[in-house]
Order: sequence, then C-alpha cells, then structure tokens
Amino acid sequence: MCYSVIAANRWTLSRPGWCFCVQTGIRKSYDYQASGAQMQIAETVTFGGSGLDRQAHLRKDPAALATALHDGTVLALWRGKPLVAQDRLVWLKPGHPALAQAESQVFLGEDDGTPRFAADISAWSPEAGAEGVEAGFFDPSVQRHPALGETAGFVELRSIMTHLPAREAELVATAKAVLHWHHSHGFCARCGSRSDMVQGGWMRTCPACAAQHFPRTDPVVIMLVTHGNSVLLGRSPGWPEGMFSLLAGFVEPGETVEAAVRREVFEEAGVLCGPVSYLASQPWPFPASLMIGMRADALGTDLNIDPDEIESARWVTREELVSAFAGQHPEIKPSRPGAIAHFILRNWLADRLD
Ligand SMILES: [Zn+2]
Repeated sequence: MCYSVIAANRWTLSRPGWCFCVQTGIRKSYDYQASGAQMQIAETVTFGGSGLDRQAHLRKDPAALATALHDGTVLALWRGKPLVAQDRLVWLKPGHPALAQAESQVFLGEDDGTPRFAADISAWSPEAGAEGVEAGFFDPSVQRHPALGETAGFVELRSIMTHLPAREAELVATAKAVLHWHHSHGFCARCGSRSDMVQGGWMRTCPACAAQHFPRTDPVVIMLVTHGNSVLLGRSPGWPEGMFSLLAGFVEPGETVEAAVRREVFEEAGVLCGPVSYLASQPWPFPASLMIGMRADALGTDLNIDPDEIESARWVTREELVSAFAGQHPEIKPSRPGAIAHFILRNWLADRLD
C-alpha cells in the first residue's frame, strides 16, 4: 500500500511502524519498508532505516521496560561486534548464560511485536581471537562464546552490513552506537563523577551534580562534487591501495551543513563550490556518525591538495567510474559496498539520485 492510498482511505501514519484511520481511530501496524510509502531511493542506503517503532514512551517506565525485557530478546555485542550466525543477528532470551557478564543494556524498540534489547558483554574474555580487534581498518576475527555453540560468533559489523535486512540493520546500528556511547561516556562531563544509565539506556544522569547526558551523534558531510561529466574523489592516508571515495568531513560547531561542504572541499582539494543540496543520510555506527550525503557543483577543476587532510584527489569521469566499479580500472578501486559513498556514486552513474 502506498502512502497516497493510505491518505485516500483516511489512513495516516501515526508514528513509524503504525498508521491509524482518522475516522475510526483504528490503529494497525504498517510495514514502512515493504509498502514503499514515500520511500525515496535515498532511504534504501545501508542503515537507511526500517521504520523501527522505538517506543520512546516506555523509556521512562521501569515497570513497562521490565515487562518488555521479560517478553523480549537481547542482542549481545562484544566490543562493538554483534552476535551473528549465517549473516543474521542472533537474539537471546534474557537470562541466557552468554549474557551473564552484560553491562549496559539498551531498549531498542518493538520489532514486529517483539521487544528488542541490546547488551554489552565486553567484560567477557574470549580464550582466543581477541588480539585482532580494533587493530586495523577491518577486523576479520570471529569470537565464539562457549555458551553459544559453533555457529554463532561476534563479527565485525562491516562484514555483514550489506547482507542484513533493513530492520536488522537499523537495530544493530542503533545498538552499536548507543552501547559505544555508554562505554566511552561513563563519567559526567560536567563534574567527573561516575554517571548512571537510565531510561532504558537513552540517558545518563550524574548522582553528584544531577547533570543529564544524552547519546551523541556526530554529523559528517560527504560530498558528490561534480563538474560536468566528472566527480571529485580523494583518498586518505592508510586506506587500502587504490581506494578512492567522496570527500568528507565533520560538521563544526556553529556551521551549517552547506557551509561544511564548501569548507571541507576547499580545505582538502582547493576547489570552490557553487550550489549545494541534500541527497541522503546514513547512520554510520563506526563509532557514532551520521553521514549526510550532499551534492555540490564545483566552480572549477584546479586542485590544491592539503596533505594534512588527504593523500591525493582526482577528477574521475563517469566512464572511468564505471570501469572502477567493474574492477577494471588500473588505478582506482571504489569505496566499499554499504558505505554511503558507494551508494551515491552508484546512483549518480545510474542517474537515479532523488
Ligand atoms: Zn556531574
């Protein structure tokens, strides 16, 4: 059912995942992803969202949260790596032995009638396989918990993110980002006292000074900078050989998204931009970014690289990019599937950007 049909029948969206009839008040679940309602291509990006019903009203109700936990299931994460089997998330019942060392526990929302939680079991020490974690660009190691058998293991999210259904991708992105925030924000930023997790994991409070702290998301602009038939790509030091991607940078305090695009492109590549517009956004829990995909028209093609920011930059024609995506370009490897840069470039080539 498309959104226009809903409107014609007096159904309207109440909150994500639900709609109700404006005449009778009857409420029913509504599969935002499957319906195609008002879905833009932009929302089909990895981690693009599935309309998860986060049930934020339950966060301030400890009794309701306890009931939800009793009826629900828990996704365990170990040092940022979710528990996975055969490219699907593994959900455990509360009280499972693998959750014995759970620290922070976060209420994610209701998934098709099932309350979903995430728990951080980073205190658990695997007998082997932990040495590769966070050692480099990509962690290929898998940790297996003795209480979980041989099929399930903790894996790097990047390795499975493009295989997950949209709902699971939204759940695990949320879980990973919020648990990382708890892990790195255990002390009050105002007075330094240890703070407490409250509201189902969506707030921390300080017992000493009563300050309230909320999960943070860092906005990052990532830019499709074009000039005629070419797009501006760059590479950072330390990237895999030949890998090029769109330019990107953090939005600074006091800055608009548009200003951040123009500043970053000029700082990194010395290129001035004219019109700037929005394309798509992507939660990117590595560890806590919101990637804001933007489009900018370059006013010229002269490059002036800042070596402190990027290693190199180049203009790439559509034909070259097609060759790169086909794995046939002698010098350029495109950004990896799942990243919004890959998504934007693919859709630019297909002329499908919204
Ligand atoms: Zn404090």
